[in-house]
Amino acid sequence: MRRLSDCEMLQSIAEVPNERERNGLRKVYLTFDDGPHPIWTPKILDLLARQRVPATFCVLGAYAAEYPELIRRMVSEGHDVANHSLSHRDLSKCEPGQIRHEIAEANALIQRACPAAAVRYMRAPYGKWTNDVISESMKAGLMSLHWSVDPRDWSRPGAEAIVDSVLTSVLPGSIVLLHDGAPPEECDLHHRDASRVQTVIALSRLILGLKERGFVISSLP
Ligand SMILES: [Zn+2]
Repeated sequence: MRRLSDCEMLQSIAEVPNERERNGLRKVYLTFDDGPHPIWTPKILDLLARQRVPATFCVLGAYAAEYPELIRRMVSEGHDVANHSLSHRDLSKCEPGQIRHEIAEANALIQRACPAAAVRYMRAPYGKWTNDVISESMKAGLMSLHWSVDPRDWSRPGAEAIVDSVLTSVLPGSIVLLHDGAPPEECDLHHRDASRVQTVIALSRLILGLKERGFVISSLP
C-alpha cells in the first residue's frame, strides 16, 4: 500500500480531484448510505438498473449480515460496496481498538455476504472523521470517502427539494450523498423517519436532470 503523507492523513475525499479541470466528461458520483434495507434498497437498485447508472453503497456490516442477497445484487449489477462501519457508532468517540473492530467486522461481513465484493472505501458514520478513523481505515486498506453534495434526503424535505438541492450545487467531480437505509436506532420498519420514499422518487428525476446537464454518473475511481 502507498504510504500517505501527514497532510493526506488528515483528509477524506469529498470530491474526485482534477475532475473539474478535465475537459469533456463531467463525471459525478452517487453514494447511498445506511443500507442495505429490505424495502428501499431493491427499489433503488431497480431504478439504477433501468437507467444503467452505477453507484456506491456505503453499507453497515450488521445489515450486510442480515440481507446478504442485497450485497450480492449490488456487486452483480456493477455497483461498489463501501464500508460504513459495523453498527453506525460515532467513531469519533471511540478508541482506536473499537474503530478497528467496527471497520474490520464490517469488511468481514461484507466479504461473507459476497466474496466477490472489492471494498475500497470507508465512510465514517455521520461523516465524523478523526485522524484515528482515517488511519484505521487506511490500515484496513480503505480510502476515506466523504461527500461534497448533501441534499439531506434523510430529513425528508420533499423529493423536489432533494432534486433541486443536488442540481443547484453539483459540479464535475462531485460526490453526492443519499440514503437507501437508516441507522439501527431509526430502522424499525414502521418508523416514519426511516422512510426513503422521497429519495426513491427524487432519484429518477435526479438522474434525468444530471444527464440533461451533461453529467456522466460514474463509478468512483
Ligand atoms: Zn450513515
